[in-house]
Amino acid sequence: MPVDRLLPSDEAVELIALTRDVADKLLDGGVDEHERSETYPDGLFAQLGAAGLLSLPQPEEWGGGGQPFEVYLQVLEELAARWAAVAVAVSVHSLSSHPLLAFGTEEQKQRWLPDMLSGNRIGAYSLSEPQAGSDAAALRCSAVADGDGYVLNGSKSWITHGGIADFYTLFGRTGEGSKGISCFLVPGDLPGLTFGKPEEKMGLAAIPTTSAFYDNAHIDADRRIGAEGQGLQIAFSALDSGRLGIAAVAVGIAQAALDEATRYANERTTFGRKIIDHQGLGFLLADMSAATVSARATYLDAARRRDRGLPYGAQASVAKLIATDAAMKVTTDAVQVFGGAGYTRDYRVERFMREAKITQIFEGTNQIQRLVIARGLAG
Ligand SMILES: Cc1cc2nc3c(=O)[nH]c(=O)nc-3n(C[C@H](O)[C@H](O)[C@H](O)COP(=O)(O)OP(=O)(O)OC[C@H]3O[C@@H](n4cnc5c(N)ncnc54)[C@H](O)[C@@H]3O)c2cc1C
Repeated sequence: MPVDRLLPSDEAVELIALTRDVADKLLDGGVDEHERSETYPDGLFAQLGAAGLLSLPQPEEWGGGGQPFEVYLQVLEELAARWAAVAVAVSVHSLSSHPLLAFGTEEQKQRWLPDMLSGNRIGAYSLSEPQAGSDAAALRCSAVADGDGYVLNGSKSWITHGGIADFYTLFGRTGEGSKGISCFLVPGDLPGLTFGKPEEKMGLAAIPTTSAFYDNAHIDADRRIGAEGQGLQIAFSALDSGRLGIAAVAVGIAQAALDEATRYANERTTFGRKIIDHQGLGFLLADMSAATVSARATYLDAARRRDRGLPYGAQASVAKLIATDAAMKVTTDAVQVFGGAGYTRDYRVERFMREAKITQIFEGTNQIQRLVIARGLAG
């Protein structure tokens, strides 16, 4: 059963219908095969871009869809219910475009944004390093001013789209401490930039996650986004929006798991009745439904604050925490509903459980979300 959504406009209703249609055509078949062979269908990104699904919340003047964030997130949720890797890819692409859109000069936007937003150029976001994940301010990759630009040296880790992206929104060290970090837009074919082999992950195998190595790579000064030293502020601003994307992805995964489990519970019989009619199992499904619905309401609340220009950072952390913990619980319980069959690859619920786990880790672990929320409470 499709989710019955309360959408803000007729246009949004049409967009959700279009997303379901595109997802039926592009994402329904072969997901498990692609996950096993660690590949994307050819041209998928270009097709999503052509359908306008890669740039929904960005302004129309740069080729975006001009849609409220609450609509964009619900589109992401629909994609995630079909194939989380694709929804994460769309969300990371949006995350990587945010610094240019929010902090770039007019000249920089004119030069790069239209291609990014049309999906002609795939983006990646490169903040983490081996010793600097949660503690982003501990990053070391250096960007030393040199004539008309900067020389980059060091390694980055965990880059979604690593090795296949056309541009990397990179955070590098230009000075001391947390105010000594700057943001750069690095072309994927920059001489001196190489990539590690894709990590062997628990899930989301279709999108590569790699390290990157900068070895005396020269980048022009006009590729610095924002002021020198403003990098961490830019990184965190992008993550506020990105975390809402991950919350929506998590709800999509939870919804898909709930749907599969409900269908199975209406078919499978034990002790002479459908398993959904055993109260113990029916209540488990009821709790899964309540968790999914309330997680959706939480991310929508944060998104509506963003759409109205209100502060929403703490609400984004709450949404990421609630939605991703809900996804982990709901997908684990979905496996339980299937009994032994849930532990096999014959049903999609085991994939959903593996996919849910990463949502609690990337774009700030849920311990870090609690840290952000607690700091807000401390004033
Ligand atoms: C599949 C995947 C894709 C990713 N994609 C990207 C990407 O595209 N770009 C990018 O920049 N990064 C990406 N990441 C990196 C991701 O954001 C980090 O893994 C994450 O922020 C955690 O950092 P870490 O792995 O270094 O763990 P650590 O920071 O070492 O944390 C280890 C544990 O300690 C806990 N911890 C740490 N500090 C505290 C504290 N102060 N209080 C309480 N608990 C704490 C953490 O919650 C965690 O449980 C990706 C990671 C994965 C696995």
